[in-house]
Amino acid sequence: MKIFYAKYILPVTSEVIEDGAVVIEGRKIVDFGKREEIEFKFKDVARREIDLKNALIMPGFVNAHTHLELSDFKIEKVNDFKEWLWEIVLRKDKKYAPKWYDEFNFIVSFLERRWLRKIYRALQEIITSGTIAIGDVTNTGELVTRLVSLPLRVHIFVELIAFSDEKALQVFEKLKSNLNDITAVIERHNYQNKFRLSFSAHAPYSVSERLFKLIKDFNGERKTSVHLAEPIEEIEFIKHGTGFFRDFLTKRGSFNSGWQPPGKSPVKYLDDIGFLDENTLAVHCVNVDDEDIQILSSRNVSVCTCPRSNFFLKVGKAPLRKFLDNGINVCLGTDSKASNNDLNILNELRFAREYYRDVSDEELIKIATINGAKALGFDMIGSIEKGKDADLIYFTIPKDLKKSEIYEFIFSSSLCGRLI
Ligand SMILES: [Zn+2]
Repeated sequence: MKIFYAKYILPVTSEVIEDGAVVIEGRKIVDFGKREEIEFKFKDVARREIDLKNALIMPGFVNAHTHLELSDFKIEKVNDFKEWLWEIVLRKDKKYAPKWYDEFNFIVSFLERRWLRKIYRALQEIITSGTIAIGDVTNTGELVTRLVSLPLRVHIFVELIAFSDEKALQVFEKLKSNLNDITAVIERHNYQNKFRLSFSAHAPYSVSERLFKLIKDFNGERKTSVHLAEPIEEIEFIKHGTGFFRDFLTKRGSFNSGWQPPGKSPVKYLDDIGFLDENTLAVHCVNVDDEDIQILSSRNVSVCTCPRSNFFLKVGKAPLRKFLDNGINVCLGTDSKASNNDLNILNELRFAREYYRDVSDEELIKIATINGAKALGFDMIGSIEKGKDADLIYFTIPKDLKKSEIYEFIFSSSLCGRLI
């Protein structure tokens, strides 16, 4: 048994404790409270005591939306989402197109190593900023086996994109057995509290109704995610079938001429086809109206906000205050390097604090910890509570830091350590 002492304990689901202690057995939180109470309670128990002195102990952060495999897709500047989307798809086309050097293994492995170096840098940003769990979206599956051994809980969303039903069925059938096989291995090794996979849908403008239904049916109780109501053009396309996305899909050869627009908001559309429930993580939700918010709330959908990405892509600002006032479980994500400078969750939090002035510091900390854990289904982490797993972090604080200043201190930090 280990007892950690620190000037402050921030349990998130209960009051801040001054001169506190956390008791850990194995990887579980056995107890926590005031230093003197814990000392008295455990005085006869064999223990190792670690006094961190001027430190703050709290649960680690959850970055609910990343795309690690896009870590080499850094885009410095774009005018809007439309320009960015074209840039991304053209880069992807180029990256995965057959090359003259495909037969030259030394070139292929050199490029792969360069790509992996960028992934490791992104992972370094994730881990050193106190992140303990991520929801990572993959389109290629190339990183899946590499992410298993990280000191992180990982939910991998295998993202499907197909606007025509014919292509949708092909994609789905091809990947279904792979996902079943990997899930069987994870369960055989009893690893499902650390590493999970499920299907996710890219967005209403890039996934057919049939594919949305297939994904939901396949996943069952597993978490899924979708980019929802991100650019304003998505609303026009789903309501009227016109505008940027019609043009985009047509140019990409993906538009289905027999397709009828649903004629309603993207949120209402996904609700009507049964995609929205407590296992759905709706990412962005920037361009939503009050009726959409009511739907998200009544279906217990978790909403992941990515403020730096939204700002970079100029898609607008999510109505976070309204989400919270309507009881929606809001969590936080950095999104990818293609729309953000880094994957450091503390930097995201600092930005979020400036961006959403009407959201309190306490609410922001919940958004970045317990809410993210809930959204990804990692209910054993996200707060300091008896019986939860000790995925905890600590900050070294100035000696004279007052209790009223601890949030300010967290939001001004970019680095912290893992407790165990
Ligand atoms: Zn995304």
